[in-house]
Amino acid sequence: MTHAHILLAAILLQQAWFGALWTLAAWLRLARRAAVHWALATIGMSLGMGLILQRGVWPDGLTITGANVLIAASMVVLRRGCQVFARLRPTDGEHAVVLVAVALGQTTIAALDGGMWMVALLGSATFAFVMLRTGVELAGALTPEFGRRAALCCTLAPLTFGVLFAARLVLVAVQGPQVDASITTPGAGNLGVAFVSLACGMVIHTTLIGMTVMRLVRRLQHQSDHDTLTGLLNRRAMARELRTQAQRQRRHGTGYAVLSIDIDRFKGINDRHGHAAGDAVLARVAQALRAGAREVDRVGRMGGEEFCVLLPGVDRRGAEHAARRLLAAVRGMPHPELPGGEAVTVSIGVAVAGPGFELVERLQRRLDRALYAAKHAGRDCIAHAEPAGEVA
Ligand code: GH3
Ligand code: MG
Ligand code: MG
Repeated sequence: MTHAHILLAAILLQQAWFGALWTLAAWLRLARRAAVHWALATIGMSLGMGLILQRGVWPDGLTITGANVLIAASMVVLRRGCQVFARLRPTDGEHAVVLVAVALGQTTIAALDGGMWMVALLGSATFAFVMLRTGVELAGALTPEFGRRAALCCTLAPLTFGVLFAARLVLVAVQGPQVDASITTPGAGNLGVAFVSLACGMVIHTTLIGMTVMRLVRRLQHQSDHDTLTGLLNRRAMARELRTQAQRQRRHGTGYAVLSIDIDRFKGINDRHGHAAGDAVLARVAQALRAGAREVDRVGRMGGEEFCVLLPGVDRRGAEHAARRLLAAVRGMPHPELPGGEAVTVSIGVAVAGPGFELVERLQRRLDRALYAAKHAGRDCIAHAEPAGEVA
């Protein structure tokens, strides 16, 4: 057994290992569609390596032509998985052209007895093309979601792989038909190609696993911070934002205001039109609040039909202005889910923090009283909380 055989056996084992991992990922529904592609690609790749290792034992049609077509197909499937993962439209027309070209090309070379030189030329051209396309595609598509650095990490291995095979294509072409281009023999950089393939395979699948885990963690973080019905921050996340803002005020003296917003006579809406209509109203009110808030503001659903808006850097006048704007925005919103053009209104309690440090719980108590005052004043209006110093 030569060094090349050992390297090929290592690639076989590595690809089988990743095949098992991607099968498990697909079974666990982690990036399921992409994982199925990558499981198939790695299993195909390890079978291809297995065929190459049988060269001289099994017929050449299987161990040369079959192996090259299988490996090319595996790379195409790997690329399609990357497209699915990166939410790109799969370029199935291009994939079909590559697959047909490889299958026809390799069988023609075998039929005309073109030798390993031709096989290596076509194989290298195909692998280089597919991997370079994968790298370029991933760089653009993953940057918005994961950032430039992470996208670059994911791109580097397919690009290296592509450049490697492009270099091999040139090397084999320059050396001419007399070169021994079989990957199982040490000449013509074959050993180097096998070694870099092993390293790139490791990096490609490790970075893809990294991206899959990163996407999962981000999704879980988002779910744990957001309300499912409205998409707003939930009570826990909002409490965290309020605490952070209070700390900021303590350290830097940045003032802020908080609005507590409650839908008026919401129980009646549920009773008259059903819970589903009530849910639709909640989602619409949330949408109006989010649209009416500034980018720096934080909007949350505290539970039931109660919302909260945190307004950093805002004084009493600014808070009143914002509250009136939101009040009008909710009142003016159409509600197709409610028959007869029924209007939905909210009451808003307004509290301005400070001037010194104030515990969030104290601010919350002032807010509750302000909201109660707004309800008491007839609803569809705002009420200011008493200033911080005057609270018991
Ligand atoms: P007020 O003007 O005094 O605020 O009256 P209200 O009817 O809005 O207040 P109340 O607290 O009596 O009723 C709130 C209702 O909100 C009761 C509850 O069934 C309903 N509710 C809470 N969560 C949800 C939800 O997720 N979906 C729907 N559809 N209803 C909800
Ligand atoms: Mg209410
Ligand atoms: Mg309420």
